[in-house]
Amino acid sequence: MPSRITDYTKYFSDLAKSIKASDVRELLKIVEQGGVISFAGGLPDPRTFPKKEISEIAVEVIEKYGDKALQYAPTKGVRFFIETVKEFSERHGVKVNPDDDVIVTTGSQQALYLVARTFLNPGDYIVTEEPTYLGMLSALQGLGVNFITVPIDEDGMRTDILEERLREAKSQGIKPKMIYTIPTSHNPGGTTLPMDRRKHLMELAEEYDLIVFEDDPYGFITFEERDVKPLKTLDESGRVVYTSTISKILSPGMRVGWVIAHKDIVAKIELVKQGVDLHTPSFTQYIAAEAMKKGIIDERIPFIKQLYREKRDAMIGALQDYMPEGVRWTRPIGGMFIWVWLPEDINSREMLTIAIRKGVAYVPGDAFYPRGGGHNTMRLNFSYPSIEEIREGVKRIAESIKEYRESKKS
Ligand SMILES: *Cc1c(COP(=O)(O)O)cnc(C)c1O
Repeated sequence: MPSRITDYTKYFSDLAKSIKASDVRELLKIVEQGGVISFAGGLPDPRTFPKKEISEIAVEVIEKYGDKALQYAPTKGVRFFIETVKEFSERHGVKVNPDDDVIVTTGSQQALYLVARTFLNPGDYIVTEEPTYLGMLSALQGLGVNFITVPIDEDGMRTDILEERLREAKSQGIKPKMIYTIPTSHNPGGTTLPMDRRKHLMELAEEYDLIVFEDDPYGFITFEERDVKPLKTLDESGRVVYTSTISKILSPGMRVGWVIAHKDIVAKIELVKQGVDLHTPSFTQYIAAEAMKKGIIDERIPFIKQLYREKRDAMIGALQDYMPEGVRWTRPIGGMFIWVWLPEDINSREMLTIAIRKGVAYVPGDAFYPRGGGHNTMRLNFSYPSIEEIREGVKRIAESIKEYRESKKS
């Protein structure tokens, strides 16, 4: 009788071995067992899902397009969706050039994965905000890329520091290839880059010949007016690769995202995608296209904005009421997250154990720093918890700070 294999490590590839489960994720498993108010997740409020409308559309899609919607589709995506999303983007201020094309991806997450593989070689340099999106960090795992990081303030990326970093890199003979940025309603930063910084960023991209990878899941649901345009719209030379998704405006479970970029770039991404999943599910592309076309998404947007504005206000109010001296936070005008800077003496990762014991969870900010740092920061999600939970949870974090400090004294 052959004996059962007890350890598979020796069979795994170097790539698989290099990818580590995050210890935070392990900690947060406890949270899912209940009794803990979680600011750690990144889920939309399910009240934003137009369930009745989607169920009607699903039936209609089967009746009207069943043979196509249930069939294999082209890698680039279902034409009906591509045409509809172009219209939708233009209507919402995202410029689509005549020589641009669209590829549908299985969520924006896949766009991050595919674009990284389309452009980056091992040893290449990528510029990101610090903190940056965890999904991008995981998409880059195993690629062997180097990071140049640029800190954020309350307004997002410090483009003056970006300029310094690019100059330094050049003087060392380093030529970064790409800048990855979330200019509107940053995750995790909760910041929105003002127009002058956007222009500065684009000038620098021009000067240093960088591809600009713009991740824009929240641009359609900013809940306070700002005079900002997507980088894609400011782009004159065709160097912006833009991605967005229906995840925050319709449903993340449908897994439909897209990339808009010059057609030569899209053609290359298409080849990379082919080997990953052939194509994004045709069925959900048809449903998403109908929801856009019928105006279901546009009708829903004001409700999403109002809901998230109220929740943001509740969280800001609670932070003001409960946080001790020396704590700072961003004031998002969109998205789902607030970024908090705690005083230097607090290590948010160490403090998490106390917080979970007190019944609240968050993501320690250092998880979002590609090159380390950020020990005194944290990301708070406000889209998913209820307003009551938001107040109570923030109060519990403030209590955790107190207890953490007492534990350090003794
Ligand atoms: C939510 C989010 C996405 C969307 O990911 P999907 O794969 O489309 O669900 C992408 N980027 C950022 C920064 C996000 O916050």
